[in-house]
Amino acid sequence: MTIDDTVIEEFIRDMFEENLETLMFEGGQPLTRDSKEAALNQVLLYWRKLREVATRVTETEVKLNLPRQQSPNGKIFGIEGVVDIVREEGETLMYDIKSHDLEYVRANTDLYREQLNVYAYIWQELRRQGLDGTYIIATAYPDEIGEALFNGDEAALEYALSQWDPLVEIGYDLQQVQTTIKAFGAVVDAIEEGRFSPPAADRLASPLYEGSRSVFGRRICRLCDVRFSCSSYREYALAQGRGTTESKFSRYFNDYGDDLFLEVRRNGALEAIRGEVELL
Ligand code: SF4
Repeated sequence: MTIDDTVIEEFIRDMFEENLETLMFEGGQPLTRDSKEAALNQVLLYWRKLREVATRVTETEVKLNLPRQQSPNGKIFGIEGVVDIVREEGETLMYDIKSHDLEYVRANTDLYREQLNVYAYIWQELRRQGLDGTYIIATAYPDEIGEALFNGDEAALEYALSQWDPLVEIGYDLQQVQTTIKAFGAVVDAIEEGRFSPPAADRLASPLYEGSRSVFGRRICRLCDVRFSCSSYREYALAQGRGTTESKFSRYFNDYGDDLFLEVRRNGALEAIRGEVELL
């Protein structure tokens, strides 16, 4: 690491602390030391891996706004997004940073394209700006990087970083904008009308996305705060494994997530007891 890198990483740490403090006053959610470290690592690794993109950004945190849209049931809503813009050699590129799993982004490019369609529409049609490409940057780092960080193994980290490509070119299609806005509107109606039905239990038992080895119910629902009052999760959980209905019920009510998640929560609780937990 060069002296410049050290200075910049120090700057990133300072800015991270400053932002955290601001969010702490706005939010009020507890943030454990582990979560804070994971978030900081994402930012530092973004810098280490995507310095080329980061240093070329000409406009950062550009707010895109599409106000006064109407849902199918007549509700007025707006769509907002924040992107980074790189203008270089006559080209304009748009980057949307997500703290999402890279494999999930790659497997669901259609979902991300829908969002980028709207951003591209606002940028080109409302702001009258040129656009030559749209990308997602998926900052959630893979397990190999997490393990190398945990073990403090710099060589393994360098190797894992060299294998990681968080930049996903998605593209956009302005023809689809109205369909996307309509889909947003349908969600607005569902929220406004209090329609929050969970997906069917079958969906929970199926892969998170096509080709994924993670099951939706295990990966998403086991971390969901409302899972014990969710009918689909109850049906899914009680269909898992063997045993009597009683033993399955007992397993269901005593399942608080995987070991890593439990460890994070335990640490968070200990920090809270010691008064060390930060509020975010
Ligand atoms: S447990 Fe949570 S995430 Fe899973 S289906 Fe129910 S509400 Fe959705």
